[in-house]
Order: sequence, then C-alpha cells, then structure tokens
Amino acid sequence: MAQLSLRVVWPSSPLHNPARRHHLSSPAPPFLSLMPRLLVARSELLRTSPVSVEEEKRALEAVVVKESAMAGSGVFTHIVDENQVFKYYAEGEWKKSASGKTVSIVNPTTRKTQYNVQACTQEEVNKVMEAAKAAQRQWARTPLWKRAELLHKAAEILKENKDPIAECLVKEIAKPAKDAVTEVVRSGDLLSYTAEEGVRILGEGKLLLSDSFPGNERNKYCLSSKIPLGIVLAIPPFNYPVNLAVSKIGPALIAGNSLVLKPPTQGSVAALHMVHCFHLAGFPKGLISCITGKGSEIGDFMTMHPGVNCISFTGGDTGIAISKKAGMIPLQMELGGKDACIVLEDADLDLVATNIVQGGYSYSGQRCTAVKVVLIMESVADEFVEKVNAKMAKLSVGTPEENCDITPVISESSANFIEGLVMDAKEKGATFCQEYKREGNLIWPLLLDHVRANMRIAWEEPFGPVLPVIRIRSVKEAIHHCNASNFGLQGSVFTKDINKAITIGDAIESGTIQINSAPARGPDHFPFQGLKDSGIGSQGIVNSINMMTKIKSLVINLPSPSYTMG
Ligand code: NAP
Repeated sequence: MAQLSLRVVWPSSPLHNPARRHHLSSPAPPFLSLMPRLLVARSELLRTSPVSVEEEKRALEAVVVKESAMAGSGVFTHIVDENQVFKYYAEGEWKKSASGKTVSIVNPTTRKTQYNVQACTQEEVNKVMEAAKAAQRQWARTPLWKRAELLHKAAEILKENKDPIAECLVKEIAKPAKDAVTEVVRSGDLLSYTAEEGVRILGEGKLLLSDSFPGNERNKYCLSSKIPLGIVLAIPPFNYPVNLAVSKIGPALIAGNSLVLKPPTQGSVAALHMVHCFHLAGFPKGLISCITGKGSEIGDFMTMHPGVNCISFTGGDTGIAISKKAGMIPLQMELGGKDACIVLEDADLDLVATNIVQGGYSYSGQRCTAVKVVLIMESVADEFVEKVNAKMAKLSVGTPEENCDITPVISESSANFIEGLVMDAKEKGATFCQEYKREGNLIWPLLLDHVRANMRIAWEEPFGPVLPVIRIRSVKEAIHHCNASNFGLQGSVFTKDINKAITIGDAIESGTIQINSAPARGPDHFPFQGLKDSGIGSQGIVNSINMMTKIKSLVINLPSPSYTMG
C-alpha cells in the first residue's frame, strides 16, 4: 500500500529531508494499478543510479515480487475494504463493523494517519464471544497432535509473510525494519515451540495413590489431567503487537481454548495480518477472532464480558485496573518495569557499557525490560559514563525505514511525557551527558548522570531513550533503591564475584535477575514474570500453557484396597 517509488530506493530521513517528507507522510494511497507504479519505480531507479538494461529488469522484477508481499495486498487483500479500512476478524471472516466508525493509526514518524481500522461495537463483541464458545467445544475435542499441526502451519505462514507484517510494524510503531522482521520470525518460532511443548505437557497426566497420605489405604486412584479454560482474551501492548499476541494465542489454542484478540491500536494492522496467517492455516471458524477499536472505548466491555474465562494482558497500569474489574477468572498480567542495573567496582566496564547502551536504547527504550536506571558505585562511575557516552555517540538517529537505532517514540503524548521527566531532572540538577534534542516524536538518546531520589526519572518508566544514572556508595543502598520501587520486573547485577551476584540477586524483589547482562524478555521459553506492580502470574511458553488450563481429576474408588503384586 505504500508508494512504490519508496520501495525501490528508500529515502533518507524524512525528518531531515523535507523534500521527501510528503512521500512518507501521505496516508496509504488508493490501490494503484501495477503499471503506473512500475513506471514510477523505473524513473526513480534511473534518477538515482545509472543501470544496465539487465539490472533494470532485475530491479523491476524485485519490485513485482515485493508488490505481492506488501501489507494489505496479495494474500492479505481480503483483510482491507474498498476504502482502505482494515476489517476485523470474526466467525472465520473479515468484516466491516456496523458502527460505520473507524479508528485511525498514526505513523509515529510522519505523525500522519497511516492506516484505519474498524471501531467494533459491543454487539459485535457479544457475537464473537458466542462464536468462540461454540468453536471451543469442538476444538477441545480436536486431537492434540492435530492442534499442534495447525499451529506449526500458522508458524510457517507467518514466517513466509514476515515482510508485509514487518512493514506494518515499521509504519505503525516505528520499529526499526530489521527488528520488525525479527519480531515476526521470533513469533513463528514461538508458535512452533509452543506446539511441541503443548504435545508433551498436555499429553501427560498424573496418577496419585491414596495411601501416601496418612490415614488412607490404597483404595483411591486419582487421575488428574489438564483441561482448557474456555475463552481466553488476549490484550498485547503496542511495542510487540505480534510477538506478545502470539505468546498468548499459541498457548491458549494448543491447550484447547478459543481466543479473542484485542490488539493495541498502534499495532492493530500488524496484528490483523498475523491473524490472517492463522486463518490461512485453516483454524476452525470462530475459534480465533480479532476485535479492533480503542481500548478506552471497548476494553472494559471486553474484560468484564461474562463469556471470558481468562485474560492474558501485557501493558502498563491499565492492567492493574483490569485486574480489579475482571472477576473470578485466571489473570496473566505482564505490566511495567523500572529495571535497574547494579554495577559493582569489579565489573567489566566495557561489558557493562555495551549492555547498557543495547539494553537502554534499543527500540528507543520502549521495551518492558529496557534498562531504566543504572545504580553504579561512585568509584567507577566516571569511567563508566565516559565509556557509555562513547558508545552512545555511535547510535544512529532517524527513521525505522533506515534501520536507525533510535526512532520516533510511539506518540506525541509519549514524547511529551518523556520530556516532562527530562525537564524535571534538569530543574533538580541532573547532569546532562548529551544535549536534550527532540524533533516531533523523535528524541535523541540521553544519559542523565547524578540523578537523585527526588527526581521523577529515578522512579518512573520513561519508555523512551533517556536513561538515569544514580551513583551509589554501597550495595545496601542499591538494593534499597530497587526494593523501594513499585515495580519488580527484572534487574541485573554486573560483577566478577558470583557470590555477591547471587546474594544481591536474591535480595532484589524482582521476577528475574540477570547476572552480567542487561534485562531481557526471552528466549521465549524462559519463565517471565513481574513482582509487585509488574504483574500477576508468569509467562514463558510452559507457564502460559499451564496458566491457560485447569486441573481436572477423576477418582476411582475401589471397594477394597488393592496392592501391586499383592
Ligand atoms: P497500555 O496503554 O497499558 O495498553 C496495553 C493494551 O491495553 C493495549 O492493547 C490497549 O489498547 C489496551 N487497553 C487500553 N485500555 C484498556 C481497557 N480499559 N481495557 C482493556 N484494554 C485496554 O500499554 P502500552 O502503552 O501499549 O505498552 C507500554 C506498557 O507496556 C509499558 O508500561 C511497558 O512496560 C509494558 N510492557 C510490559 C511487558 C511485560 O511483559 N511486562 C511487555 C511489554 C510492555 P489501545 O492501544 O487501543 O489503547
């Protein structure tokens, strides 16, 4: 759906090249016939570099191949209507909402509308729930190996279509192009792994014998197995709209549940493309659905819907509000974090600097497990800051299309929020290691030294490329700071002394502590959980499958005790 000319030669930053701005900032144009687009491509090709006839032919063929792999076209043609509005997915079909309303998705780079999706109604949610309930009954009877087979197929189709889905991630959430492709491929791998783990975990049950408990003889045999919960409602956040949707969809489906997805508004179009891969894989009608619309409008109706049997949510404080309203159903909540990196005197400072720059600034700091505060021993702080600054100077800043390290943050309000934290730190005397610079939603990477506990940035999650450094004098001080936080997602300790690392790791109230590495979610089969306001329950493939099932027992009561070989 994007202009073909830009696909042949990607433009330099629209933020720095106003002549190009018009191209990138235009909303998706109406479908053009291929021929005029090829002519545009050809003239662009000739304008930018002299090419031989053969080269020109190959380049134009590549354009045709890319054409079929573009968002909203090729196998994805059915998911978009004649007005370029993306449809929602219900009862195995792509539909337009009866609301007649749409929600616009703003490209964070251009700050112009990039896509439009349906604003679904409550009635449409009701219908989806009914269909999901009916489909789930049949699905629970579908053999486990067959469920796994379909998940493997969806994984394959997802990976085949990584380019158009990544294209949406670039335009909807400004994810650097190569990271966008990685997200889709990782999601396919996650699905395959889930299928295989599911077959093992769910194919096993337990036999318990009564005489192991005092006062009982061996006359009761308890057979327990895992059964599905019913309808799982999945709500992922904007920063990984594909991966964090798939990490809920896979476990729910393999365990015999049906799945209703409410994608984040920014990220909806990538999510709709991903859902279409499940459609193409041949999952039964009604088993998977995708309701689009603003969370603030449709969210409460969905999370409080009586048909929902489980909610798997990833996001910010919204999750705390949902957990108060949801009622007596299992909840998986993966919420915000303020992941601290504690750096001791004996740490390898080159390793630390590499991890801090990677962990703090990749995807412009918009990761739940981004490094969000550095707690460093005063004696090594100057050397550390110098090393980090040197690495930060090499970060590229610009558009996701150009694969820059730092790309625009998700929205203007997010950029304003980050700026508010920076200004608060400035007023209260933090040292700026770089000049603060912002253009639209693009914020240049910033390290704030000498941050103190009275500054907001010491405690709040910026979700942007701004990292505070707090200088400490003792390990005790570092642990105290971590444990005074409302959050407890991850943390890390850098030291060569493993004994100290373990002791500190044990003392910090966080779901995971990394030793000598920045925090990270993944690999996707590792357990992943937050303490305190960072969440309820645990993710990771096995934990999610278990969480989306319930134990059911059958007890065989014998008239008299029975003993093997007895
Ligand atoms: P968010 O604002 O909490 O939104 C998350 C999801 O909730 C979106 O799909 C949103 O839809 C939806 N939503 C909004 N209001 C709702 C309501 N009343 N009922 C139901 N759903 C509702 O979070 P975000 O800005 O997308 O993501 C950033 C946050 O996620 C950060 O705090 C980050 O730390 C956290 N995060 C945590 C993890 C983890 O695993 N711990 C991973 C990634 C991100 P709309 O987009 O339509 O509003």
